[in-house]
Amino acid sequence: MDSMSEKIQSEKKHSRREMGISWRLFGMLLIFIVVMLLIIWIFQVVLLNKFYEQSKMEEFEITNEAIVSSLGDELLLERTVFSYSIKFDECIRVFEVKDGVATQIKSADINAGCVIHHISADELSSLYSKAKQNGGRYIKKVSIPAKAESSEMGTIFISIEQLDNGEEYVIMLNSEFAPLNATVSTLERQFGWIACILLLGAVVLVIIISRTICAPMEKMSASAKLLAKGDYNAKFSGGGYRESQELADALNYASEELKKTNNLQKELVANISHDLRTPLTMIKGYSEVMRDIPEENTPENVQVIIDETERLTSLVNDMLDLSKLRAGTRKPEKSEFNLTETVREVMNRYGKLTEKDGYNISFSADRDVFINADKTMILQVVYNLINNAINYTGEDKTVRVTQSVSDNKVRISVSDTGVGISPEDLPLIWDRYYKVDKVHRRAMVGTGLGLSIVKGILEAHDAYYGVESKLGEGSTFWFEIKLAK
Ligand code: ADP
Repeated sequence: MDSMSEKIQSEKKHSRREMGISWRLFGMLLIFIVVMLLIIWIFQVVLLNKFYEQSKMEEFEITNEAIVSSLGDELLLERTVFSYSIKFDECIRVFEVKDGVATQIKSADINAGCVIHHISADELSSLYSKAKQNGGRYIKKVSIPAKAESSEMGTIFISIEQLDNGEEYVIMLNSEFAPLNATVSTLERQFGWIACILLLGAVVLVIIISRTICAPMEKMSASAKLLAKGDYNAKFSGGGYRESQELADALNYASEELKKTNNLQKELVANISHDLRTPLTMIKGYSEVMRDIPEENTPENVQVIIDETERLTSLVNDMLDLSKLRAGTRKPEKSEFNLTETVREVMNRYGKLTEKDGYNISFSADRDVFINADKTMILQVVYNLINNAINYTGEDKTVRVTQSVSDNKVRISVSDTGVGISPEDLPLIWDRYYKVDKVHRRAMVGTGLGLSIVKGILEAHDAYYGVESKLGEGSTFWFEIKLAK
């Protein structure tokens, strides 16, 4: 019990050191939320202006390309300039340069922010020469005089296009850059709210998860502690989801099995002490009588003491055999021997019984067979089965032993005509100390361990075994073992 409480204590320490699922989950969710917010922040706030500028530049390029491809076609140019100025909200001027003189051939002056429509000829020529120096392209940010009170900026885009036929055109585009500062600050404010909502969501989620996952776990661990303390009535419930229900089922099964084993253990101790006490009481009683009354000092009474001593010895031997078999310390020492001959010898020993008590014991075998097994152990099996058959056979005192060979196996069957075993008892008779007769009256023979020893030995030999029985008609116990090659 001390070591048990130590264990529970150490578990407590353990759980204090290790974080619970809810906290761990909360931590993970928090990290996830922070990372997501950071990503959104970077894209929406820090890089917003850059993205906006980039998309504006792309729009300039698209418009420029459309205009270039419609140069030379008056009508198409007209339509292109008009539609693109509307589409991208751009101001457009297209010049044709001939002999160093630029003449405007098309223009779209769509709003008050059209800087390019309000600049002087000097500025125009300076922009043109900058574009020339810059390889044909020039981009310039300008403030918009018509919207001086706002912080709106405009961008001028100049492109000098040299066509294959030698004609030169200048395309000037101009667009407003709506100030994004207001948008950014709105986003920043929204950000605070989003963070709060996400945090709240995480808390709610963790509470729900800990209700559904952690609560049943905690309940189960409390039940397991009860079980560890020996309360086999502890029940485990899984609480709503499959994995925990499976765990609960497994634990319930384990607790049920532990309960059974515990009951069996108690029964075992009770039965063993009963079986040991009965012969001891007899020995003590007879000895005392013989000590106190000299006339009682007869060979018959001494025989009783000897018989009871033998009973005790065989009980102790059986218990030892069984515990060795179960612990696996008694391993079969295999050798090849004649099974038919061995059974025949056993039957001869029972011959006396046949003569004296009128038993009708027979053995039939069509041929001699050899097996590779532990001879002493197999003898023990045969003795136990025949003993049981003699003990439980009916009024006609008949016991039939048969050997049959099929394929590479030999089957030994021991049949009697006795009380038989009910179907409910059939699977249980191989258990230690299981008695069909629940009142543990003193068995006339046997120690109640016989069939457990038979089972242990046959399993150690990988042999098959079984019993067929009908109440009132008798039983047939059999085992099957491989023939030696
Ligand atoms: P026991 O010493 O009581 O015979 P066993 O382990 O050999 O112990 O047998 C367990 C129980 O199985 C017996 O108590 C008996 O109830 C039942 N049993 C065994 N062999 C037979 C049989 N041939 N006929 C009827 N019941 C049997």
